Amino acid sequence: MFYADGILRKSSLIDEIPGVFHGFSTRMGGKSTLSHTASLNLSHNLGDPEDVVRENLDIFARTLSDGLYGGETTVTLHQIHSAKVRVLTRDNAGEGYSLPRGEDGDGFVTAEAGVIPIARAADCVPILLAGLREDGCPVVSAVHAGWRGTVSGIAAEAVRQMLALGCELPTIRAAIGPHIGYCCYEVGADFHETVCGLRGADFAGRHITIPEGKAKHHADLTSMNADILRESGVAAEKIDISPDCTMCMSDVYYSHRATGGKRGVHGGGIGIR
Ligand SMILES: [Zn+2]
Repeated sequence: MFYADGILRKSSLIDEIPGVFHGFSTRMGGKSTLSHTASLNLSHNLGDPEDVVRENLDIFARTLSDGLYGGETTVTLHQIHSAKVRVLTRDNAGEGYSLPRGEDGDGFVTAEAGVIPIARAADCVPILLAGLREDGCPVVSAVHAGWRGTVSGIAAEAVRQMLALGCELPTIRAAIGPHIGYCCYEVGADFHETVCGLRGADFAGRHITIPEGKAKHHADLTSMNADILRESGVAAEKIDISPDCTMCMSDVYYSHRATGGKRGVHGGGIGIR
């Protein structure tokens, strides 16, 4: 179940993995003062001064880790709507904060403490995963899944790479964070066709439908990602889903669609104690 913890939103399933801290940020609790970024914007180049964004990353990291780690342990990257997931070690800590960004991509996995991967979004789907190796050490992942990353199976790629790091499949818990809901995610006619081409007509038919009382097709990024995680072997009861739609709740979250693109970004962060 998702629950509010101050400025964060958390998953009780991820809480079950010992030695792991996590959370999804909201707009609240940061230092940005521009109307479209106020106040916990986690991205550079959206109008906030560099030092304000760094301060926000620091606040997010400290809040997530109960003061254990600061912004210098965070890692953000240039997200490209791909299914590319990078493996991080503590040597990557600070990329996008005090160090230049590393390679582009849309997700991270790590089995090391001292590095906090952050997947950023503003309507797209942030997903956090955690599990354990046989020796009891955690493996964690943070993923940015836009519709293209979702359909390309980035959630499955994250699970695959967690397993490659020695994580045991039955231990994996996933949390699908706040994102634009089926209620608001209207898509054009060409969208169905594109998804058919990428993942087949059955997948497209299941997740792109016309909601009752609406005229146009809507896409369900929630069920798409949940389906893909289940196909990867993560049991349905190990998948937490945030009930919050970022567009319906654009006072709490950043929403690309609600603002015509003039917005900050929130994110999902996870780490090992
Ligand atoms: Zn909505």
